[in-house]
Order: sequence, then structure tokens, then C-alpha cells
Amino acid sequence: MTTSTHPKITVTGHLQKEAWRLRELPPVELVRPGLWSIPVIFPNNPLRYVNVYVIEVPTGLVLVDAGWPVDEAWANLTEGLVSIGANVTDVEGVLVTHNHADHLGLAGRIRDASGAWVAMHRLDAEGVDHEIDPEEMTTSSERWLIGAGVQESDLASMIPDVGQFANHLMIPKADRLIEDGERPLPGAPAIRAIWTPGHSPGHLCFMDDERNLLMSGDHLLPRISPHISVHPRETGDPLGTYIATLNAMRDMTPDEILPAHEYRFSGLAERVDQMNLHHEERLAEVLDWIMTRPGASSYEIAAHLSWSHGWENTRGMLRRAALGETIAHIVHLQVRGAIRNEPVDGREYRGELVRTDAWFANAR
Ligand SMILES: [Zn+2]
Ligand SMILES: [Zn+2]
Repeated sequence: MTTSTHPKITVTGHLQKEAWRLRELPPVELVRPGLWSIPVIFPNNPLRYVNVYVIEVPTGLVLVDAGWPVDEAWANLTEGLVSIGANVTDVEGVLVTHNHADHLGLAGRIRDASGAWVAMHRLDAEGVDHEIDPEEMTTSSERWLIGAGVQESDLASMIPDVGQFANHLMIPKADRLIEDGERPLPGAPAIRAIWTPGHSPGHLCFMDDERNLLMSGDHLLPRISPHISVHPRETGDPLGTYIATLNAMRDMTPDEILPAHEYRFSGLAERVDQMNLHHEERLAEVLDWIMTRPGASSYEIAAHLSWSHGWENTRGMLRRAALGETIAHIVHLQVRGAIRNEPVDGREYRGELVRTDAWFANAR
């Protein structure tokens, strides 16, 4: 993940922004009558916390996202609910933007406590393998990493450990599936699901048509570009999907965007333009390296791109994520017809690449 600055958006979550600067957990806030944000901690992660949104419906409360499955986050959530005069037992449903453990992880515990339903898009419900076999996962990870050109010495650090599998296994199954355009809350018909694939195949944003607010999950964040990655379980061209999804929503004019991380902001079109600019620059950077070093593996390409904390400091699972992002850009260049990608020695190197002018024709 890297930062983008131009053109300008307007930060509206001032308390959240100040807390970000101070490296603190932001306060619980009443965003609009009947809609609150409760930040819950996301430990050992640069994203620091997840913004859980609470929507009042005639019969109780509905949450948008849940939080990372640890006791500290659970305490943030339950105490946050008490601070707004409610209780976790009032929660009748959890709308999940996507199946990552920082959004879905606590949903099972909420369901156990209150009998709430858990709802998400079909593709993200199907994307969680509840029968996951850590050994099989390790082998397929290793195969994929070697295929991308990762050196033997870096391999072990880039394979998820058993603890990460355990978190994955705590992810609950969905009780309800939500389709694009659906209004999932009979008591709050203004809430509309928008299917926004890219960061995950079944990512959903939730538009509140009455309050004119967009709950954007990880699809649009004010500071960082969402992680878009190709990896053993995500094939295809997720970056192309993400860019198309973003551009399709550029004409929407919500008063405020309520992201799942960082802080609230306004300026949807500006943020979409920033994202486009960021990815075009990144694609150019990748293409540049491929032109000067034909045959480079995706790992070599990743190692020579600019990263916000430097490649040397991007280690372990962060390095794996960086590699996945790089491959997403390589695949997208390939889909645009800018490069060819030939396997070398039977391995799926993303490296044997030949420049064409197609990317330039598309980009400029
Ligand atoms: Zn995510
Ligand atoms: Zn997230």
C-alpha cells in the first residue's frame, strides 16, 4: 500500500484524523442521528483500527462490519455500544463489506451473543474455505512464491503461520447473501448494497440514500490505496476489475464517505481520480522495469518498485502482499495487451515480458 495526494479530498472526520496523528484509537462518534461509528482495534497492523458503523433500525441495531477477532476489539465494540446507550444483544444483523478477518472476524461472536444474522455478498461467502487444510495451504503458497521468483532464503517468512490460519478459521459462515442493488434492511430501506469487486471479489459498499452517505469498506480509503492482489486464491485481473468498479461510481455525490479504516472524508470523484493516477503511475513504473530488464521475475520487479517503507523494511507477510500487488499490476498490463508473460522452465514466472505499445495507447 502506498499513499496518494492529488487531487485533493476533504477530511471530514476531524477527530479521527487527529487520533490518527496521535496514534490513538478515535472516539465513538454520532455521525448522523441514528448512525454511529465505533472504532475497534486492529492489533499489529498498520491500519490500526476498523470503523464499525452502527445503524439504528426500528427493532434494534445493525452493524456494518465487525472487527478483528480478539478480546481487545470485542471490548472496544461492546463498550462502544454501551456508550451509545445500547448493548451487543440489541444487534440484530451484521452487514459485512467483505470477507477479510478485520471486517468479518468478530461477526460470529456477535451472532453468538445476540442471535444476529451475518450477511455478505455471495462471492465473498464462497471465498472463505471453512475446511482449510494448513498443510495444503502451505504447499500451494510455497509453489506460488517459487513460481513468482522468490528466493529460497525469503520463502519461509512469506508463508502464513498457523496463527493466521486460526484467525481465518474463526471467520463465520454467512446466514444471508446480498446482491448488488439489494436493500437488505426492511426497517431501513434507504440502505442499498453496491457490489464493488477489486479488493475482494464480493466487496460491497453500502449507500445510505436518505442520509446521503457512502459506507465504503476498504474500497475507498482517504489515505492509502486498498490492497489489490493476485495470489493463490485470487486469480484473474482484480486490478482491472477494481479500476472499472471505481470509475463506475465516480458520478455518485455522497455528502460524506465513511470508510472502514482511517477517517471520514468527502470528494468521491477526487478520490477516484487519485486512485486512477496512482495505479497509472504504478503501471508505468512496472512497465519501465520490464522494458529495461526483460525476463525479470515478478519478485525482482517488486523488489525494485518504490514502497512507502522501502523494500528492505517490507518483510514477511507485508512482502508477500507487496508481491501480490506487483503481480496484479503485471497481470493488468498483460490484459491491456502491453506485455506478454511466458512461463520459464515450466514455472509460472511473471517475468518473460515483452513490451508493446498497447498500454500507452490505453493510458494516455
Ligand atoms: Zn480488506
Ligand atoms: Zn480492512
